[in-house]
Formats: sequence, structure tokens, C-alpha cells
Amino acid sequence: MGPIGVLCLQGDFREHLAVLTKIGVPAVRIRKPQDLIGIAGLIIPGGESTVIDKLSQIYELSIPIKKLIGAGLPVFGTCAGLIMLAIDFTGGPADQENFGGLDVTVSRNAFGTQVDSFETELRFDGIDHAIHVAFIRAPIVKRAGAGVSVLATLDDGQIVAVRQGNLLGISFHPEVTGVTSVHEYFVEMCKTANFTAEK
Ligand code: GLN
Repeated sequence: MGPIGVLCLQGDFREHLAVLTKIGVPAVRIRKPQDLIGIAGLIIPGGESTVIDKLSQIYELSIPIKKLIGAGLPVFGTCAGLIMLAIDFTGGPADQENFGGLDVTVSRNAFGTQVDSFETELRFDGIDHAIHVAFIRAPIVKRAGAGVSVLATLDDGQIVAVRQGNLLGISFHPEVTGVTSVHEYFVEMCKTANFTAEK
């Protein structure tokens, strides 16, 4: 399998690279279109989706990433990365764009501001133990389309992890609390997909 790309434009990409190193998976930093060649999967980190949107357009990554999503590249979006993957989202500026692909509607900053950030234990379908994760100005999945599997919810039923084919989107951050199992889950997705990004 080729390396996993981590979109390194803004946000906590360093933490994602560290998780991949910890679990022994080769990783590559994605900053230019040619960095995408040969990757087996892509992680879009948390951060600020408006900024990730603007920088991915400026660095001409937006169109190639959209094409790769359409071609079946496995992509894992965390928090702002989930917003980048949703086909529909609310709570952003009118001109905010994203990559799309995942048939969900996501509400940005659904828990409030930075001071409303929190950590919690979650059950995640496909992981055999509870995971301790952080929600940081997190989005919520308000609608999941017919082809979308819900992998995790909060106690009140709000959807915080989804999968549709090769696309995985989560509202929270496993990479800041030392959890590696969601990345391991994604690496398994990449192995099964056996995709290699071409030019
Ligand atoms: N609130 C941010 C956004 O809308 C996401 C926060 C995060 O990624 N931790 O992009």
C-alpha cells in the first residue's frame, strides 16, 4: 500500500502525522498537487474549514482532491475535515466551499464556541473499546443520507461519526487524546480499497 497523505495546509496536521508514525504507517505531507501522486488515502485534519477551503484553492489542491474523491480515494475528515467532506453544511460564510462527497448535512460550531469544547468517552462501531476523544468547536451531523452508516453518536443521539464507502467523517479529535484506533480503522479502509492516486 502507498503512503497516507495528510493535508498540511492548516490545523492539527502534525498530530495526525504523529499518530501515523506511532502506528507504523508511512505518511506524506500534502501541500502541492504533485504530493497527491501515489497516496493510498488522505486525512483532512481539524482546524478551521474556512481557511482550509481558501488555502486548498490557492494551492490548487481543491480540484484534484475532488477528482480523487470521485475516483474512490479513501478520505478521513476530522472536525473541519468532516465539514470539508460534507455535501452540505450550515453555519459558514456564504462563499465557503468544500470538497464534498459525503452525503451528510453538517452544522458548524454546533456546540458553541471554544469554551464549550469538551472531552468524552465514545463507542465507535468497528472499534471494540470505548475511545476518549476531544470535541473542539465541533460540527454535528444533522442529516445522514441513505447510503451513510452512523458509526458513533453522543448519549443524546447526535451523530458524530459517519462512513459512506471510502469516506470517513468524524466530529471529534482522536489524535489529541492519544487514541490511535480510529486511524487504524481508516488504515484498514485504505488496505481494503487498495487505491493508488494517479496524476
Ligand atoms: N469550527 C471549525 C470549523 O468550522 C472546526 C473546528 C475543529 O476542526 N476543531 O471549521
